Amino acid sequence: MTINTHPTLPEFEYILPQTLVEASEFLSRYPAEARPFLGGTDVFVRMRDGFLTPKFLVDVKNLNGTNDLRFDPQSGLTLGAAVNMNRVISSPEVQAHYPLLAEACRSVASYPLRTRATIVGNICNASPAGDTIGACLALDGVLNIHGVNGPRQEPLGSFFLGPGKTTLKPGDIVTAIRFPIPPKGCAGTYLKLGRNQLSDLAIVGVTALGQPDSSCRSGYRFRLALASVAPVPLIPAEAETYLANHSITPESLHEAARLSAEACSPIDDVRGSARYRKQMVRNLSAKALTAVWKNLS
Ligand SMILES: Cc1cc2nc3c(=O)[nH]c(=O)nc-3n(C[C@H](O)[C@H](O)[C@H](O)COP(=O)(O)OP(=O)(O)OC[C@H]3O[C@@H](n4cnc5c(N)ncnc54)[C@H](O)[C@@H]3O)c2cc1C
Repeated sequence: MTINTHPTLPEFEYILPQTLVEASEFLSRYPAEARPFLGGTDVFVRMRDGFLTPKFLVDVKNLNGTNDLRFDPQSGLTLGAAVNMNRVISSPEVQAHYPLLAEACRSVASYPLRTRATIVGNICNASPAGDTIGACLALDGVLNIHGVNGPRQEPLGSFFLGPGKTTLKPGDIVTAIRFPIPPKGCAGTYLKLGRNQLSDLAIVGVTALGQPDSSCRSGYRFRLALASVAPVPLIPAEAETYLANHSITPESLHEAARLSAEACSPIDDVRGSARYRKQMVRNLSAKALTAVWKNLS
């Protein structure tokens, strides 16, 4: 067997559309051959490794609104698709109102990679290991999508269909992700377990967000999202419901962590066994929920 130690990119044609309509029409005309890209940190690696062979790469970075990062005290945060992760991390509005989003971005690889990588690319890549997806789910992200029939919106919660699979149709371009104003008094955290501290995908990732909520019997609502433990980013609904209905104590937080691990269906792979992943979900969920609870009380 010959191993190619210097794999290179296959040939492709670079397409730079001037408008969203033009981009969308091009992508729908060549559904099997054209692919949109932002930072390219997933696309180019997959092309180099032979998993993707698009004839056309359609640059959607400079289209209308895709570079905007806007905060409105009434409607919340809009992150254009092309806003890279370092811009998210250094935004004063994100730091003040959505620190969980900044924390999730900081967990992704390294500073140089984050100058290219985007949250929308992380989402559209639809890897169950995507580090920023949990924060986007917990913060109720909604995608703005431009398709051949014009713009539409789609909640992130129903976007993922399987590894690498989403509800996007040929011609669809995600132009932004929007977040409502976060609940008053909320606190969150993202805990990632990787094989090293730098530049590794999550063996397991746990996002936790809590908020005071008088409509819950416990007086608090917790959101959880799990990375790398199911075919899609996973929300362990039973654990969330349990905490809504039981007084918050160290014991109930640990029971929720157990339920969180129960919800997972991880696989064995080079980064960890299914058994190890389940145990780590339990440990990290307990740790994340306890940390969030401390910040709430
Ligand atoms: C060295 C290295 C380390 C990494 N470490 C991490 C890590 O720690 N954590 C992590 O989560 N990821 C990691 N990644 C993966 C990658 O960097 C992230 O998933 C990143 O967020 C992808 O963003 P991007 O803008 O580069 O996406 P791109 O590569 O441009 O696109 C990703 C996917 O989305 C599609 N797409 C892009 N834009 C759109 C659009 N507007 N509408 C519809 N579909 C679109 C593309 O066709 C492609 O399938 C790493 C990658 C590398 C190379």
